[in-house]
Amino acid sequence: MKLNFHFKKRLGQNFLIDNNIVNNIINKANIDEKTLVIEIGTGAGALTNKLVEKAKYVISYEIDTELKDILEPMFKDIDNLKIIYDDFLGRDIIKDIGDYKYNRMMIIGNLPYYITTPIINKIIEDKIPITEMIIMVQKEVAERLIAKPGVKDYNSLSIFIDYYFEVDKLFSVSRHVFIPKPKVDSVVIRLRKRNKAKINVNNERLFFKLVKDAFVFKRKNLRNNLKHYNIDLIESVLKKYNMNSTIRAEDISIDIFAAIANELSK
Ligand code: SAM
Repeated sequence: MKLNFHFKKRLGQNFLIDNNIVNNIINKANIDEKTLVIEIGTGAGALTNKLVEKAKYVISYEIDTELKDILEPMFKDIDNLKIIYDDFLGRDIIKDIGDYKYNRMMIIGNLPYYITTPIINKIIEDKIPITEMIIMVQKEVAERLIAKPGVKDYNSLSIFIDYYFEVDKLFSVSRHVFIPKPKVDSVVIRLRKRNKAKINVNNERLFFKLVKDAFVFKRKNLRNNLKHYNIDLIESVLKKYNMNSTIRAEDISIDIFAAIANELSK
């Protein structure tokens, strides 16, 4: 791909130039003629090009208006695509998809890595009604998203993701298939929305706050991070699992966090 374009590192602009990778991503997604696809980061349209062939509609977000010069001629005859030149994080997505009719909705993206976590948090918090997302993320982030307790990458995001989604690693992507070449390798992952909650949580707000607070200082134990909670109640739950509050959050499973939150919400 030859582009007369000035890449902006600060916007995470690393464009895919290998069609095999593009096809692999698209083939893993269950897109049909009734699917609405939301793409995050149009770039020079490498994925968008294939998405419009398969999906009913594609809504693609791109913050960099300079890309219009490339994208507008490229997609001038395509009528099932809407490119929204704006910051995905600032958009009211539910409003953006409001007028579209579709059977299922999914998110696809080779994400701008500097905002991977805020993007995932937004998708969760805005309750965007997707069935799945297929995203390319930095290898280290993928490891965090699929981490289990006791592993160094396990954190509050791993727990939030596990609460809402089933996560699979699909394949690794070498840094050599992008221009410009990034400093990191990438992984494509699939997050499937759970139909049925993995665990029973009585008060989601409390559960999420508890998990966030428990990980605030990674090196501190639970007793220190959760000073403002009823620590006796927390101890009583941990005791059932042969644990006590000198344990660190990184060693606690989602089920135990749920049990603590449920006890605190009584
Ligand atoms: N999909 C293209 C590809 O695979 O070649 C581009 C991927 S590139 C890693 C990420 C794209 O996201 C860039 O084009 C960048 O300008 C765009 N981007 C960065 N921040 C954004 C934001 N906040 N909202 C929407 N797009 C953003």
